[in-house]
Amino acid sequence: MKKRGWEIAAAGALVVAAGGVLVWRMRGSAGETAELVAEGAEKVLRNPMRPPRGAPRVLVFALDGVGADELDAVIRGGRARNIAHLVGNPRRGDAGVYRHAYAAPGVLSILPSTTYAAWTSLFTGEPAGRTGVPGNEWFAREEDRFYAPAPVTVTEHTQALQVYTDQLMGRVTHVPTLYERANVRAYVSLASLQRGADLVTVPDPASFGQLVSAFAEGAEHGNVKREVYAKVDEGAAGSLLSIIEKRGVADLQVVYFPGVDLWTHVAPDPLTAQRQYVETVVDSVVGQVLGAYRRRHALKDTYVLFVADHGHTPVLSDDAHALGAEGDDEPPAVLRQAGFRVRPFKLTVGDDERDYQAVVAYQGAMAYVYLADRSACAAPGARCDWRRPPRFAEDVLPVVRAFDAANRTGAGVPQLRGTLDLIFAREPRPFGQDAAPYQVWDGERLVPIGEYLRAHPRPDLLDLERRMDGLSAGPYGNHAGDVLLLARTGIERPLSDRYYFSGIYHSWHGSPTDQDSRIPLIVAEPGGDGRQLRALVTGAVGAHPTQLDITRLILALLGRR
Ligand SMILES: [Zn+2]
Repeated sequence: MKKRGWEIAAAGALVVAAGGVLVWRMRGSAGETAELVAEGAEKVLRNPMRPPRGAPRVLVFALDGVGADELDAVIRGGRARNIAHLVGNPRRGDAGVYRHAYAAPGVLSILPSTTYAAWTSLFTGEPAGRTGVPGNEWFAREEDRFYAPAPVTVTEHTQALQVYTDQLMGRVTHVPTLYERANVRAYVSLASLQRGADLVTVPDPASFGQLVSAFAEGAEHGNVKREVYAKVDEGAAGSLLSIIEKRGVADLQVVYFPGVDLWTHVAPDPLTAQRQYVETVVDSVVGQVLGAYRRRHALKDTYVLFVADHGHTPVLSDDAHALGAEGDDEPPAVLRQAGFRVRPFKLTVGDDERDYQAVVAYQGAMAYVYLADRSACAAPGARCDWRRPPRFAEDVLPVVRAFDAANRTGAGVPQLRGTLDLIFAREPRPFGQDAAPYQVWDGERLVPIGEYLRAHPRPDLLDLERRMDGLSAGPYGNHAGDVLLLARTGIERPLSDRYYFSGIYHSWHGSPTDQDSRIPLIVAEPGGDGRQLRALVTGAVGAHPTQLDITRLILALLGRR
């Protein structure tokens, strides 16, 4: 049954929840499902596909939400036997060098350290202010349209499905992708950005008979089983293995693991649960994929990478620490008290609901607030022209001051007292001009981030100025809002002093802190030499690469500079 080109499209609906992760929700009859299973779960994106070029190849294991320390602990713990065998033992006195691999140290994600933004930047090499994708959800004011491929403030999953049925991320990403730049045969297993690849595979629907969208309800209902998420990652690998059998290996292969992030969000002891998941589920899939390469004699000439979008910071799973969207004790109440009509928390709104003057989008540790020029749409029912920027003094500053007061004293919304770390804003620019970089509110005025940090050092917020510039400055910098709220968080703070913008979970991310931001970048070569790999990596992207260098590194490994 073909539908939209997918051999499995009628079998179920993809459901994506706060962490940017997904599950299948089954529908249709058992007979229909069986028929679809027989047909497989692949979609050819280029017809004809590029001919396979051969060595050198690159195989990328993309682990959602697995921070550098967690993956390092797993490898050194010795229980992830396939990964440990691939990289070999660490070389004493040679930081980051393994017998057959090199792990670049101190690699930071972009901001926000949140799924959709970070993967889009990783697979394009451009920051969010240029890609146009600043988070799991955002408001494109030039279109007056809300995007939520991974819904946080909204509940509809329409766009989560469109990520796979309509290549949503390819349509909203405004820069060339890795696959377009590499121009070699490329397969993508389950990754959200597919534009330019030859083929994408998703899990076999047979794996998901028992699956329900439990994750979307958050951690408060308890009783979540790891198997539900493992089936997504294992099922995706199953589809990929059958493709390799059928069509051979690609020159560039990305294998994405969304289930590990999803499980970490909802597991009661998140970081321990994550390590165990990598040791069992991820390691087993890695072993199967490497085995398929080995059987085709393709392993020796393949560079194998382990990368991630962000890490995870455990949080308290209660209403006091989850800064939600609906209700009089949540952040949007500050906007309503400041006189703004707030956009309803829905993906699409009716014609009678389009008179909103403020829009909110959540990214875990960060929240974006978009403001209209209210002077042109003051009366209830009047629709604002979102292509016009807000007025700085009359629209932006009152909102900054209101959040600052709520945070300092509890003014207006007592529950917000002490929940925010920093408030960012900037002078709005007209539509068509590059957005200016965000500045920090010091309690009295906006200050450039570098100047603020010189007066108020924050070593816990890593490389804050450069990363905030990447998010906020540039042609799509306004996709990150007119005001940005950074929640108090960080593994250095007590659990009770960490907050997050979303429903209730056991773990979140999105911040500039080390635990959320420091990601693995491991380059292995089966049977290769770790010191040579270090020379290769540093020669391609220097000794201190960031997430934005990974596309360039992959191009170099493919010999495609
Ligand atoms: Zn993620």
